[in-house]
Amino acid sequence: MKILVTGGCGFIGSHTVCELLDNDYEVVIIDNLSNSKIEVIDKIKRITNKEVYFYEGNVQDKDLLQRIFKENTIDGVIHFAGLKAVGESVKVPLMYYCNNIDSTLTLLEVMSECNCKNIVFSSSATVYGVQDTPKYVETMDRGKSSSPYGETKAIIEKILEDLYTSDPTFKITILRYFNPVGAHKSGLIGENPNGIPNNLMPYILKVAVHELPELTIFGNDYDTPDGTCIRDYIHVVDLAKGHIKALEHAHNHEPNIYTYNLGSGHGVSVGEMVTAFEKANNLKLNYKYGARREGDLPEYYADPSKALRELGWKTEESLEDMCKDSYHFITMEKGE
Ligand code: NAD
Ligand code: UDP
Repeated sequence: MKILVTGGCGFIGSHTVCELLDNDYEVVIIDNLSNSKIEVIDKIKRITNKEVYFYEGNVQDKDLLQRIFKENTIDGVIHFAGLKAVGESVKVPLMYYCNNIDSTLTLLEVMSECNCKNIVFSSSATVYGVQDTPKYVETMDRGKSSSPYGETKAIIEKILEDLYTSDPTFKITILRYFNPVGAHKSGLIGENPNGIPNNLMPYILKVAVHELPELTIFGNDYDTPDGTCIRDYIHVVDLAKGHIKALEHAHNHEPNIYTYNLGSGHGVSVGEMVTAFEKANNLKLNYKYGARREGDLPEYYADPSKALRELGWKTEESLEDMCKDSYHFITMEKGE
């Protein structure tokens, strides 16, 4: 089976491409390298010892997509390509709506034209918005989006639902990720954003390797056991494996639209993450408590039982693995 992976050079995409190749899928990547580096392709080849086909370009480029589908028999698509910085999306919403939604529409049009009707889409726990309980389950309605980024995910989910209603020969799998962290065990691929990171783990890593002086923990007066926010962190390799399970499930089932949470089911506070990172890597992190970050929810985590029941998937990596593998990657990147 040949899978087109959009955004396959990115953090989650590159790990998923490795899992696909390890499971004997053929892989074609399209990525415009707007948030990734071309070196990732060589690293994927080194990790897997397999060939991967790469097209540099924008998923909004219909001619290019048509060419890719003409030059390759694509059996399914995993659609990662998108912009993902929540704060930036508030500042430049049009760029986010244009990039994320237009690319998805173009992709779906070309898939329909080429009769390729199997897509796995990267959604996010952010589509739940604020709920009455912190444990998010797929039966809950989508909530109010807290950013243009989140809104693009909710809109794309709705587009996919409408597409399925109009064409029930589509197999659509929506995966709602919780908080992906960690890196490949080889240390060759991981997440190392340019500039000052917004997300917790990349920020911790920059402090750990002394590129930034200290971590600010955003708020310690929440109604949680240690006062800091609680999230569901998931190792990126577990997340990548979830995509293989989703493809297998789609292959073995009738066309439909399926939605799954991919998370561990366990909440971890920012304070607990800092302590776990220090312990796993035998170091001390400089940190201080600061004000709450606007828009942060005190606590949420996945109910991942549907993914276990229907996909046979659950997380296997521990919090210690997430901390160790992230640090291993960043020290390799820095050549330490
Ligand atoms: P990433 O930025 O590392 O990867 C995205 C890749 O897509 C990058 O390589 C980028 O160059 C590429 N890209 C972006 N727009 C493109 C376009 N129009 N055409 C071609 N390539 C394009 O992000 P990631 O963390 O790997 O996330 C992958 C997907 O998962 C995204 O859709 C993201 O919104 C979603 N997601 C991520 C998280 C997270 O915390 N990382 C959580 C939930 C959902
Ligand atoms: N966080 C923090 N300091 C930082 C970055 C994040 O305290 O420099 C906290 C943030 O307030 C949230 C948690 O870490 O409670 C996870 O944040 P992240 O941005 O990684 O993911 P989010 O849950 O916002 O998608």
